[in-house]
Amino acid sequence: MVKSLLSKPDVSGAVTAFVGKTHKMYIDGQWLDAVGGDPIPVVDAATGTIIAHVPNGDKSDVDLAVHAARQAFEKGAWGLMGGHERARLMMNLAELIDAHADELAELEAYDTGRPIYETRMVDIPGSSLMLRYMAGYATKITGETFATSAPWELFAYSVRQPIGVAAIIVPWNYPFELAVWRMAPALAAGCTVIIKPAEQTPLSTLRLAELAELAGFPAGVINVVTGLGETAGAALCSHHDVDKVSFTGSTETGKRIVQASAASNLKKLTLELGGKNPAVVFADADLDQAIAGISSGIFFSSGQVCTASSRVLIHSKVYDQVVDGLVERARNLRIGHGLNPQTELGPLVSAEQLQRVGGYLKAGAAEGAEDLVGGRAIGDQGYFMTPSVLTNLTPQMSVYREEIFGPVLCAMPFETDDLDEIAAMANDTDFGLASSVWTRDLATAHRMAKKIKAGNVWINIHNCFDPALPMGGYKQSGWGRAASFAAIEDYTELKGVAARL
Ligand code: ADP
Repeated sequence: MVKSLLSKPDVSGAVTAFVGKTHKMYIDGQWLDAVGGDPIPVVDAATGTIIAHVPNGDKSDVDLAVHAARQAFEKGAWGLMGGHERARLMMNLAELIDAHADELAELEAYDTGRPIYETRMVDIPGSSLMLRYMAGYATKITGETFATSAPWELFAYSVRQPIGVAAIIVPWNYPFELAVWRMAPALAAGCTVIIKPAEQTPLSTLRLAELAELAGFPAGVINVVTGLGETAGAALCSHHDVDKVSFTGSTETGKRIVQASAASNLKKLTLELGGKNPAVVFADADLDQAIAGISSGIFFSSGQVCTASSRVLIHSKVYDQVVDGLVERARNLRIGHGLNPQTELGPLVSAEQLQRVGGYLKAGAAEGAEDLVGGRAIGDQGYFMTPSVLTNLTPQMSVYREEIFGPVLCAMPFETDDLDEIAAMANDTDFGLASSVWTRDLATAHRMAKKIKAGNVWINIHNCFDPALPMGGYKQSGWGRAASFAAIEDYTELKGVAARL
């Protein structure tokens, strides 16, 4: 650990100016104060200091935003626009994101605590990429004609129509990129959106709204309500005039949202929830590649990633070698303030998260897990935590079963060469979000890809995302898919039309 990296570097003029603004919510093309309560403080996770306040939107603010989104959908310019015009606005926004990439990467690192090398490499370019990809679909959402079997002469066809008003509820780990990844297919499909960022990390979403305004989106198409989950978030999920919620976050909150939908208007849901994602290393794998990929898969963003490679299953023939490699990488991670370009491991997002991860490590130790690195809170300010590689585990332990959302890797050996048994170990979880398989054998790789019950199986890579690749969860990891045409389907209704000739 290089001590000096922990201290806060200078923040650029652009980001200082934005963060220091009096923040307002973006509703119906206007910047508004919240009708609701006291502003919410935004904290620099590396120092624990308050850097800004945002409006504490509640039900009344949500009502305004939903009304605006409904008007824009039903009566405004948006509803009359062709796909090519929606695409043009999405491209404009992508250009603006690229033009402000440095500033946005810095703002995101400041707000989330994550290393700026990550936000520069992933969050910002990944956002403009998704807008451009989905803009391409805006002109290509079509139906089919059908050969029917009914006794009448029919002309039968389908049309795919936008679902309507979509609420997008975003977590605190990738606030900018997730807002854009969820919003892009919704806009391409012709929906209007209300984005609610997580209370811990609302700043980049407000900046996104400024850029959307500059890009020329009509009033009411993109709205941002900042507020707490239990007030603003819950109001969106139980609102009778919201047609769709796209939620990304914990499985626990996801279940609450299912109940809110059922208790209100049965709004459609896309849910991307938790994971306890297996990375399976076979004895024939390129071990250097596996160690590098799995280490990055768990320690990127301090493990605060739903698809993190949090469970590594390793063939006993190479177990020691792989674990030694993972431990060495964990020990050498440069810990520091997210705004330092050399930082590889930033703080966790909040005091609450630090406590949660610490609680898991304590429970694991009490049950007999051995930490080969020694994860613990460090520094006299902020929410820093050193990484952990846990061994001596049993499949019943909470550290092995539950999503920790921290820099904690669980390593488990396997002796067998039977792929069904190995897949059963990988699938021994309530979750089914992501996974990876590390082998040089093509047949093993693709057989495992078939057997693993997860929305993504990556071969010789982990955390491989692309706008073209479907992404989402089996089992309790969620409903629906992000990215690819599947995401467009998630924001549309399919209508069957039959005319008797
Ligand atoms: P965490 O517990 O780690 O904060 P959550 O899954 O609860 O993660 O939060 C993800 C997002 O869901 C945040 O934007 C949060 O405000 C929102 N949220 C939390 N509770 C609710 C709820 N009951 N209804 C709707 N949104 C919620």
